[in-house]
Amino acid sequence: MNKNIFIGGAWPYANNSLHVGHLAALLPGDAIARFNRLKGDNVIYVSGTDCHGTPITVRAKKENVSPESIAVHYHNEFKKNFEDLDFSYDLYTSTMTPHHAELVKSYLKTIMNNGYIYQKDEMQDYCPNCKNYLSDREIIGVCPHCKGVAKGDQCDNCLATLNAREVLDKKCSTCNTPTIQKPNTHLYFALSKFQERIKALKLSRSDKWRINALNETNKFLEMGLVDRAVTRQLSWGVDVPFAGFEDKKIYVWIEAVLGYLTTGQAVAESKGLDFNKFITSKNVISYYVHGKDNIPFHTVIFPSLLMAINEKINLPDYIISCEYVNMNDEKMSKSKGNLISVNELIQKFPKDSIRYYILANGPETKDINFSLNDLIQIHNKFLVGVFGNFVNRNLSYINKKFGGEITNGVINENIINLTRETFGKVGKLIEEGKLRGALEMAIAYVSAGNKFYDEQKPWVQAVENIEDFNNTTYTCVYMMANMANLFAPFIPETCQKINAKLGIVELGKWGEVKIEKKLKVQNNNYLFERLQPIISEN
Ligand SMILES: [Zn+2]
Ligand SMILES: [Zn+2]
Repeated sequence: MNKNIFIGGAWPYANNSLHVGHLAALLPGDAIARFNRLKGDNVIYVSGTDCHGTPITVRAKKENVSPESIAVHYHNEFKKNFEDLDFSYDLYTSTMTPHHAELVKSYLKTIMNNGYIYQKDEMQDYCPNCKNYLSDREIIGVCPHCKGVAKGDQCDNCLATLNAREVLDKKCSTCNTPTIQKPNTHLYFALSKFQERIKALKLSRSDKWRINALNETNKFLEMGLVDRAVTRQLSWGVDVPFAGFEDKKIYVWIEAVLGYLTTGQAVAESKGLDFNKFITSKNVISYYVHGKDNIPFHTVIFPSLLMAINEKINLPDYIISCEYVNMNDEKMSKSKGNLISVNELIQKFPKDSIRYYILANGPETKDINFSLNDLIQIHNKFLVGVFGNFVNRNLSYINKKFGGEITNGVINENIINLTRETFGKVGKLIEEGKLRGALEMAIAYVSAGNKFYDEQKPWVQAVENIEDFNNTTYTCVYMMANMANLFAPFIPETCQKINAKLGIVELGKWGEVKIEKKLKVQNNNYLFERLQPIISEN
């Protein structure tokens, strides 16, 4: 029976270009989606741009543009980046669509009806001159720790995370008027009610969540889950669907994370599936793919929301949460200037070189150090030296000596066994979200091909025993066709190129590929070109 596979890629925030760290966090989702589609499972793979929230409104104010124009700009850029890198999302959308807003509102009503949202009055900073409540970012004041200039949520001087309540001498950042305290009514989500259920969930997923996800979740559970505000005093966001809250918007933490459901619903509709059945089925397996800093949203907050909506919805099975990509042992950041953007990578390298590098060397269990020269070296070593070499040496010989025609041969038994075994092992590793291990195994298969070729010496066989030559060549072409299937989740464009050389039109199902008795191959270009190291980089 086919499985239902739900894959949620994290939603990048629309106020900066994507960098290599985002890519490392998100790319595993695409490999998992492609693998499961090849297996013939029902896949829903979704993501989108997170467009609301204060960082965008604060920036819009500063640049004197609309928040929407900033969000649209980055959304379009992200969408192009993902297309350029062959991400196979069933839907990549944004939180600005009416579909998302309407569904989020309806989920909020369900959570309210189920008793997990309540009202609370609290004192809040208010500007008597602008006549509005101020969000943390709209407050400037004095840091209680270092007495430097601070915003309502962070000190610009010592970088301490602050709560607006502890900031001293608070003023409105727009007009500099001292703030006053005024009661305001907000809605809260009763996250604290889920303490025991999240604990139980974590225990039941101890073999499926990555170690960092288990650890981060423990930290939250040890601190004790705290109720969270659902509403926010903002003008940019999704409306609150309850009377009396017309001046507020839904807090972005709850609105964006519900995007998994709103997009899942949209994809299901487009495929003629019932999303509710899909996601509540016993047969569903879900993957949530993101970076370390996003873990609590996916292991604590999102599952609690799901339980608050419907006890039967599948809770995250696999948490594919990567570590950081550093440069020179420092976390990438715009302010340090040690940031490689996805735009820059796409400009400089073929997409499959980028995909291969990230998937084979990504920060799966520990931070990695990124450098452009490292990417170039790995491209040259594996893609040119091992993979490209195997395909090229075989095909150019067949072309040169035999006009590209291969007569029937017998495929080596050991190679057939190795092929079947490799599909089994690689598939299992992808299923478990272990993509580095999966690619290592796939590359070992290619190395075995090169070793087989070297041992058989087909250039000698061609002269001494044409039958042996045919068997060797037929076995090598069989391996190539299998490589095109084995690597399809990782470097799909390359696999299409191999298939085109072999005259194979369609990708088969995941598993051993059998080849035609008579093949006509061509080799009109190299699979990969060698890249020159960048001299200036140190
Ligand atoms: Zn003011
Ligand atoms: Zn400070």
